[in-house]
Amino acid sequence: MDDCIFCRIARGEIPATKVYDDEYVVAFRDINPLAPKHVVIIPRRHVDSLNQLDRLNENEQLALLHACRTVAQAEGITESGYRVAINCGDDAGQTVHHLHVHVLGGGKLSVNMA
Ligand code: 5GP
Ligand code: ZN
Repeated sequence: MDDCIFCRIARGEIPATKVYDDEYVVAFRDINPLAPKHVVIIPRRHVDSLNQLDRLNENEQLALLHACRTVAQAEGITESGYRVAINCGDDAGQTVHHLHVHVLGGGKLSVNMA
């Protein structure tokens, strides 16, 4: 997607603070962090949301989940704890329509998920 902001980050056209990447995914710091540690993980290939997960192959799907753990380890929050969240669609407040996974931690998080 030419004008998708996360595709542009994945291609290196827009600067972002990358914390991890491999052949399937890219992870970078959220520009507006909601926790002391807030990383966004995206598949390199564009799909709009979790609703289109089946457009990614199994390697890409699994890489998203594995990257959560890798990022948590890199951020030093595996023991203290962290949250993994995906906003899908309007009611969830999805603002960037390229599937992404939030990893949040580094401090006590709100228990209010709604
Ligand atoms: P959503 O609300 O769609 O689940 O999350 C989108 C996230 O992307 C937001 O937390 C927002 O701060 C982050 N974001 C939006 N644009 C950019 C950007 O250009 N760079 C980075 N690093 N994060 C972004
Ligand atoms: Zn995209």
